Amino acid sequence: MKQIAMVMDLNKCLGCQTCTAACKTQWTNRFGREYMYWNNVETQPGQGYPKGYMDYNAGWDEKGNLKKGGLPRIPEDYGIPWEYNYKEVLNGDAKTLKPDSEPTGGPNWDEDEGEGEYPNSYFFYLPRICNHCTNPACLAACPNKAIHKREEDGIVLVDLKRCKGIRDCISACPYKKVYFNHSRAKAEKGIAGQSEKCVYKLVKKWKVAIPLRPDFGTLPNVYYVPPLSPPKFNEKGEVTDEPRIPMEFLKKLFGSEVEEALKTLKNEMDKKAKGEKSELMDTLIAYKHSEMFRI
Ligand code: SF4
Repeated sequence: MKQIAMVMDLNKCLGCQTCTAACKTQWTNRFGREYMYWNNVETQPGQGYPKGYMDYNAGWDEKGNLKKGGLPRIPEDYGIPWEYNYKEVLNGDAKTLKPDSEPTGGPNWDEDEGEGEYPNSYFFYLPRICNHCTNPACLAACPNKAIHKREEDGIVLVDLKRCKGIRDCISACPYKKVYFNHSRAKAEKGIAGQSEKCVYKLVKKWKVAIPLRPDFGTLPNVYYVPPLSPPKFNEKGEVTDEPRIPMEFLKKLFGSEVEEALKTLKNEMDKKAKGEKSELMDTLIAYKHSEMFRI
């Protein structure tokens, strides 16, 4: 079997939501999919989407038992999509755009809030898609065998003819990347993007790309280059050696390997700054961008 994989460099993500908008308009801009975000970019630390998705106790336990997790709710956890008074503004009947309801939640609800006190506040962006896991909890949970892992590329797909809308896949996925289409009574999820040629080196050779929440046990195939931290200021306003993003928080998200990955990144950055060669930095800077997407 083959397995495609993807690396997302969190030091490059600006939270522009272009990927979210592209995915939304291409794939989920349809009836029943209004609340679905097969691709979302969330601010961390933050609740994510659906709200608190990491706290559902889903995935696999240490002994290899499937954990049932639970179902996020509408509106409590997903929010309700809302519209704006575009017509009124265009007609000159209103001066400013206002939501047509009183929203209490939604994707990216806590954007740019983060944590910490100024001047030591911090946050970063975390783009998320289905991980096309090697050990997918969604697949194992389905009693109707409606989810399969495609042999030629390892992509995890839902067979809508087999799906009976039981939603066990949603409960079991710890990343909550399967959604329920209430108008069709079917589970729906994202397929996958294009894989990069340099994934193997970033993950296996340099070990600077690591999965989100490896403790969930699903062996994700989306990897992240973790965020380098700006330094903290002391009480006099002087720059210190202490990182602003707490290492414990990064370990919770990416496991203990994050420490070594950040050290490697820092060392290679220093080499590049001194004018020395660094294949890793050249890859991350993507000097040969056009070559990176040939499979
Ligand atoms: Fe299944 Fe969730 Fe893994 Fe995607 S991220 S393959 S939906 S368990």
